[in-house]
Parts: sequence; C-alpha cells; structure tokens
Amino acid sequence: MRKNIVAGNWKMNNDLSQTEALISDLNKQIKTSNAEVMIAPSFTNLWHAFEATRQDSIEVVAQNMHFASNGAYTGEVSASMLKSVGIQTVILGHSERRAYFNEDDAILAQKVDTALANNLRVIFCFGEELADRKSGNEEAIVEAQIKNALFHLDASAFKNIVLAYEPVWAIGTGETASPEQAQDMHKFIRKTLNDKYGNQVADNMSILYGGSVKPANAKEIFSKPDVDGGLIGGAALKAEDFYAIVNAF
Ligand code: PEP
Repeated sequence: MRKNIVAGNWKMNNDLSQTEALISDLNKQIKTSNAEVMIAPSFTNLWHAFEATRQDSIEVVAQNMHFASNGAYTGEVSASMLKSVGIQTVILGHSERRAYFNEDDAILAQKVDTALANNLRVIFCFGEELADRKSGNEEAIVEAQIKNALFHLDASAFKNIVLAYEPVWAIGTGETASPEQAQDMHKFIRKTLNDKYGNQVADNMSILYGGSVKPANAKEIFSKPDVDGGLIGGAALKAEDFYAIVNAF
C-alpha cells in the first residue's frame, strides 16, 4: 500500500531561531495525521530540527546532497553527512536545483544512486515548464526526466523512492495545476512505471503533487486517486497553513 505524504520544502528560508519557532508550532499542532509529515529545513538547521522533532510525528529531510561520497567539493554536503545528523530522506531534482544549479538528468541519476547506496530515501522531483505544456509536450518531458534519472534502477530500488510531480509553471507562482491536470499527469506517471516495472512498483509508488498547494486547494487535489500527497513550498512556512494541508487527508 502506498503512503500519503505531505512534505514541506522550506528552501532558503528560516534561520535557527525561526526554525525553532516553526517546529515548536508544528509539534504542538501535528500529533497524529493520516499522512507522513516531513519538513526540509536548510542544511545548517538539520541537526537542530532533527533533535527538536525526535519525539514527534514529523520527519526532517534534506533539500539536496552531492553525488560524491566526499572530497574536494567546496560548499557541498554528502549523503553520509546527512545520515550522521539523523536524516533518512533527501529531496533530489527540485526545479530550482535544475534551473539555477544546472542539475541535469545525468547528475541526478548519480545523486539518486549515491542516496540509495547510503540507504537514504529519495523524493525525486520533476515537471515540465510552461512552454512544454503550451506545446502539448508535458508528458514527453516528464517521461524523459523519469526515465533518464531512474530507469537504470532495479525494481527493488523503488521502495525507497517517492516521486514529486511539480510543474515548473505552478511553483511559487500562485498558479496551481487543476486537480484534473494533476490527476491526468499522475496517472500517466503511474502508467510509465507500470510499463517498465509492472504493477507492484507502480501501485506502491507515492506520487506527490507540488505547485502552489494551499489550504484552500489541498483537499480537492489530494482527493484524486493517483495523487498521494504534496510537496509544499510557500505554504509550508506558516504552521497553520501547513497543518491545514496535512489535515486535508
Ligand atoms: C516547491 O518549491 O516544491 C513548491 C511546490 O513551492 P510552492 O508550494 O511555493 O509552489
């Protein structure tokens, strides 16, 4: 059975005291839920966040990591460093990493391999740009992103992967894919997995939607049969909004 997941990507927001305050609010509100709840603070606050959530039902995850296990990569963070501060899940392939840090499919395939080799669960993000959708190319783009970064893996690897479909035109723009657009794409993604790996992998895969999810639209988006939760940006920075989205399940 696939899991429902709501993950908050804090991006480059919240210093240590803001991290403490937001986690304290979330700990008070999120005791039990029908979804796995995750938050992704900045690297500098991961250890503190891990300690602050230890007793609670929130998993702290990382926003990124490097593909090498160690070495001369100034400014980067490795999988084993994440593991050493209690992290078990890492977000890879976010559109901001692809757009601003030139992360392409080949780099992401390496990062996925490194994460899995270190027993980290991966939330793998992908999604088309507005021009792709306007030209009707969204399925081809999404299929290529998934195949190029993931289809070298064995079926067994997919139990440690969560997919996050995030149309770039809906991220941070206030523009949300309609629940029908999200459902259509998630169904296509599941079919793509099914064609390559069979229904066991496809049916058990949690596929999250990301792109301007808010308390007002979460319930309808999450009600779609192939939408198993959300990756939340802006609305994850306010405890009551994030809590309301978690509660949409
Ligand atoms: C994101 O960055 O993953 C995201 C979905 O952002 P937002 O919710 O702000 O659109």
